[in-house]
Amino acid sequence: MPEHGLLIVGSSQAGVQLAGSLRALGYEPPITLLGDEDHRPYQRPALSKEFLQDKITKESLIYRSQEYWDEHRIEVVKGEYIERITKRDDGSGVAHSVTGRDFHFDRLALTVGARARRLDVPGSELDGVLYLRKADDALELKARTPAASRVVVIGGGFIGIEAAASLHTLGKHVTLVERGTRLVRRAVGEETADFILRHHVTQGIDVRVNTAVDEIVGEAGQVTGVRVSGEVIPADIVLVGIGVIPNTGLAEQLGLDVNDGIVVDRFATASDDVTLAVGDCSNLPNPIPHSPAGERVRFESVNHAIEQAKVAAYAIMGRQEEYAGIPWFWSNQGDLKLQIAGLFTGYDRVVDRSPDAPGKFSVLYYRGDRLIAADCINVPLDFMTVRQALAKGVNLPAADTADPSIPLKTILTAHDDTGK
Ligand code: NDP
Repeated sequence: MPEHGLLIVGSSQAGVQLAGSLRALGYEPPITLLGDEDHRPYQRPALSKEFLQDKITKESLIYRSQEYWDEHRIEVVKGEYIERITKRDDGSGVAHSVTGRDFHFDRLALTVGARARRLDVPGSELDGVLYLRKADDALELKARTPAASRVVVIGGGFIGIEAAASLHTLGKHVTLVERGTRLVRRAVGEETADFILRHHVTQGIDVRVNTAVDEIVGEAGQVTGVRVSGEVIPADIVLVGIGVIPNTGLAEQLGLDVNDGIVVDRFATASDDVTLAVGDCSNLPNPIPHSPAGERVRFESVNHAIEQAKVAAYAIMGRQEEYAGIPWFWSNQGDLKLQIAGLFTGYDRVVDRSPDAPGKFSVLYYRGDRLIAADCINVPLDFMTVRQALAKGVNLPAADTADPSIPLKTILTAHDDTGK
């Protein structure tokens, strides 16, 4: 019987990392890295920033050269959407694409990511209502930007804010509409959200929180504005960034456990004990040391995709290696550089260590006495130190960190008895 090796469905950050890590670990069987887009595997983070601002080219988004894939014997397949998979108990099977091609595998990894949630209000199908998740979305937005002077961005999460800042930098009149009471509600606390909001308002972005979109209005099929609370905000382009939905369809069809993502264990392995699921599509036990037992999370971040892919690669090699380090996130919004270490979920106390300097901000989150996360804006040292402390499992007590004149590094050194 021919050896089919590993089929990786989804060729974004998690899939690319998994393929590369496996070769680095000495995995010998064939690897097929399959994606449904008509592009070679590319990096997404710049789509809302440098690429949108025309600072980098399309080519520079591409992850690896063809020579790399050839040299590492990784077969990259573009433009094939898998609609159905049949799998045997031993983990082998066949994936069927909509074009009629069959991809046989001895082992399967789902790195299928998440898709943009669609706006569901009257007018949301009008021409000029755009999304920003994939390279094609970014190409379309970029193509339409020069002719547009007024942009309404719907959704005050990372994608909405980053794109709003980029479009503002390009000289557009930008209004950002968020239905919740504050920006980036899922990722940062109130203090950080306030800081971010004030920053962008000062820069000249019209930010409206607590504002529901009633309708997208248009003329002759083309968007002309967004109706909110009886007012129509004029728009040549409407950009929607209202979150993502994990792609779990294939996993459901395979009978794998799914609950806000494909349920995996600490080794990125799904409920059939053989299929791997990695990245935005997976729901995993919280990897942060000292997390409450049984707590599960789904991350939407590049760094997580990379770390979990390494764990999955080890699992395929028969080694149970746990997640190294802790989750962290970043978001560049114009000249505001937000870095987040850990997860603030469940915090009951905040220590504000913001330096007395414009544009700088730093808060630590505690659950009980335990440090669980930090948001740092233009204060990279605090971010690095909290990241290190969380990774080592060393607590930085709030009684010590409350004085911002004492560097966190000093506090970490005083409490670090791990010898690491
Ligand atoms: P988010 O879920 O982070 O944010 C979406 C925001 O839109 C939320 O504040 C949500 O409010 C709001 N919203 C939802 N529905 C509506 C509506 N009908 N009208 C107005 N506002 C609405 O997702 P994004 O779309 O910003 O980002 C997509 C993905 O890309 C995420 O995974 C994100 O983490 C990732 N990303 C990460 C970046 C980074 O790490 N730097 C950069 C860009 C994207 P509510 O919470 O009330 O639902």
